[in-house]
Amino acid sequence: MSNNILSINGITKKYGNITAVNNLSFNVPQGSIFGILGPNGSGKTTTLGIILDVLKANSGSFSWFDAPSNTNNRNRIGSLLETPNFYHYLSAFDNLKITQEINKRGNEYSIEEALHIVRLTERKNYKFKTYSLGMKQRLAIAAALLGNPDVLVFDEPTNGLDPVGIVEIRELIKQLAQQGKTIIMASHLLDEVEKVCTHVAIMKRGNLVACGDVNEIIANEEIVELNAVNNEQLYGILSNYNLVKKITQEKNYVELAFTQGDSKLDDINKYCFEKGIVLNHLTYKRKSLEVKFFELTNN
Ligand code: ADP
Ligand code: MG
Repeated sequence: MSNNILSINGITKKYGNITAVNNLSFNVPQGSIFGILGPNGSGKTTTLGIILDVLKANSGSFSWFDAPSNTNNRNRIGSLLETPNFYHYLSAFDNLKITQEINKRGNEYSIEEALHIVRLTERKNYKFKTYSLGMKQRLAIAAALLGNPDVLVFDEPTNGLDPVGIVEIRELIKQLAQQGKTIIMASHLLDEVEKVCTHVAIMKRGNLVACGDVNEIIANEEIVELNAVNNEQLYGILSNYNLVKKITQEKNYVELAFTQGDSKLDDINKYCFEKGIVLNHLTYKRKSLEVKFFELTNN
């Protein structure tokens, strides 16, 4: 038995002659914070719309909780695709009460619970219009939490927020995952995915370009950063070093790229020493998802 919360199998969605999502397949492991990462227009929102039954795919299939697609398990999924239309003159509590009655999810206890999780209990009787943007977004997340779903689906959860609001939402997402929920979130911010997510599917123009554990996707290349008194000389002697895939000279250091497992710091140090260079600095630098993302999406 697999422990996937969601399996997507070959989904394609077209709008006229635009292919928004092209033969997309991936699995979302239980308990993961799964990021769907891609630039604007890459098909993230369309994908979320399909798995939430808001949109219909032209072909392909998906299944939640390893169950047949006609199984009614939608009450186990909470989602925030676009900002809900809360009533400005009503309190947070009353807004959630309305949401709860419309969606028939949870009860009064579940409203209090959701407000507590998003840390709005003390402000629950204040009118929505008095809320900051960050608080409004937390209230929207509270609405998704009604009925205590196992999975949460968020589309660009930090869009439009100030830096404080962004940090609050990211912390909240991590906290929800710690409580055992699986989170699926679309984002065009690789920094966000890198900071928050455990897994990632990278999309480009409707196609999946990479998918997996965030650390594995980042770490399939090793970057060694080093410097010496004379970096030009260092660059020169390392240009032909065994198994180097790429060498770059930065302002204050030289970078060597290796395939995972090919670099050995001791050997590099020894090699330089034998060539008469004493290194001041020699360390592994994690390849940032930013670089990876740029490489994946720009050709
Ligand atoms: P993302 O969320 O990654 O920004 P979308 O899923 O919103 O991407 O859009 C993917 C592609 O589908 C884009 O080219 C977009 O212009 C197109 N698209 C999305 N919704 C519609 C629609 N309702 N009608 C026509 N084209 C659409
Ligand atoms: Mg979108």
